[in-house]
Amino acid sequence: MFKYGGVSESWGRYPHARHAREVPLAWRVGLALPATRPLLAYGQGRSYGDSCLNDGGTLLRTSGLDRLISFDPESGALRCESGVTLGEILRLMVPRGFFLPVVPGTKHVSVGGAIANDIHGKNHHRAGSFGDHVRRLELLRSDGQRLELGPGDVLFEATVGGLGLTGLITWAEIKLRRIPIAAVRSEAIPFANLEEFLRLSEESDAEFEYTVAWVDVLSRSQRGIFFRGDHAEGSPRAPRAKADIPIDVPLVNTATVRLFNTAYRAAQRLSGRMRLQHWDPFFFPLDSIGHWNRLYGRRGFLQFQCVVPTPDALRELLREPPSSPLTVLKRFGRARSPGMLSFPRPGFTLTLDLPNRGEETFAQFARLERIAIEAGGALYPAKDARMSKEAFERSYPRLREFARNVDPAFSSSFWRRVTQ
Ligand SMILES: Cc1cc2nc3c(=O)[nH]c(=O)nc-3n(C[C@H](O)[C@H](O)[C@H](O)COP(=O)(O)OP(=O)(O)OC[C@H]3O[C@@H](n4cnc5c(N)ncnc54)[C@H](O)[C@@H]3O)c2cc1C
Repeated sequence: MFKYGGVSESWGRYPHARHAREVPLAWRVGLALPATRPLLAYGQGRSYGDSCLNDGGTLLRTSGLDRLISFDPESGALRCESGVTLGEILRLMVPRGFFLPVVPGTKHVSVGGAIANDIHGKNHHRAGSFGDHVRRLELLRSDGQRLELGPGDVLFEATVGGLGLTGLITWAEIKLRRIPIAAVRSEAIPFANLEEFLRLSEESDAEFEYTVAWVDVLSRSQRGIFFRGDHAEGSPRAPRAKADIPIDVPLVNTATVRLFNTAYRAAQRLSGRMRLQHWDPFFFPLDSIGHWNRLYGRRGFLQFQCVVPTPDALRELLREPPSSPLTVLKRFGRARSPGMLSFPRPGFTLTLDLPNRGEETFAQFARLERIAIEAGGALYPAKDARMSKEAFERSYPRLREFARNVDPAFSSSFWRRVTQ
């Protein structure tokens, strides 16, 4: 759990919240929810803004709910408690020839958090979102009911992508997939502009399981690197030992972003177009630096992630982009997402990281939000610290239906901000 001066944090370290209580949960059997209100589950705090915070309320810390319950190697069905992390599942299952069907950009995410944000990965165009692979889950409601739910149940549809507001997920069953061996054959292809990115997306999504692009937003032409890969046979080198940022060092500014972008592009070119990689650095390159969020200093940073339906809206978003070192582009597939508030939908998803410079940063976000929403797009709550009530309502047309399923004892800083 991330704490700073006794205050629990999200990954972006903005906004700050003071929780009245933090209750560590340790064992799913006989678990009773505390009587204090409002309640909110907290997994690994890898959401960027305030969807995992509950200012003034009670946090239910799930990291102690960390047991695997059963595994069926025939079907690949793994049942585990909700605080188990995706990294732990991969550590145990990859040597047995299984992989998670969907992984985000970090493995330090709990199963409960992955369901509550219905997370997506580099293979959305093939595999859909995390919720598509959840077969069953148990939901503990504040009235003491334990409900076993699965696809087809209304409360399941509300809980997948439900931002932790429908109750506490105690365990879940996920269907893992078989993989040949712990390697990924990947390609890094430089592109000169957005048109080339669109062409590469089109051709690569048809052939490769994993596709994503990094964009050098400071280059006028929007050049970047397109990554594509597949699980493969081979003996890749194990990842190097992890480095750590031990203290706050506010290093991210336009000059360092320019430097980083040039160095990153050169490094990708030097390491060659084709390579056989270990799965860990391919899926989770940022995990090799512990606490990299400290590079944004004590004021923290904000991430903006939206999805827009057309390349024109994408062009508009990138017309005057703020200087973000981690700018990621991906085309989502056409699959219908399983949750009432799931974020993924057909179109292009753009992610930008910005140091928190107060009003200046908020104004940049407001401009990006307006473009995305007017184009018929949506913003992602898992990454958000400032979207407006209107943007939330326009992003999620099933919001009213969802609200009927919220547990009255559960709430979050995010939920209060966008509904009150
Ligand atoms: C470096 C990095 C890369 C990322 N890349 C991606 C990406 O590629 N795709 C993507 O979709 N996301 C991505 N994310 C976001 C991350 O996957 C999500 O925010 C995820 O939900 C975090 O899980 P967590 O365990 O940290 O949950 P938290 O952030 O602690 O909580 C997230 C939500 O889950 C709820 N929750 C947690 N546990 C339970 C439970 N047991 N029962 C009910 N509700 C619960 C919380 O109440 C909260 O609403 C990334 C984050 C980082 C830091």
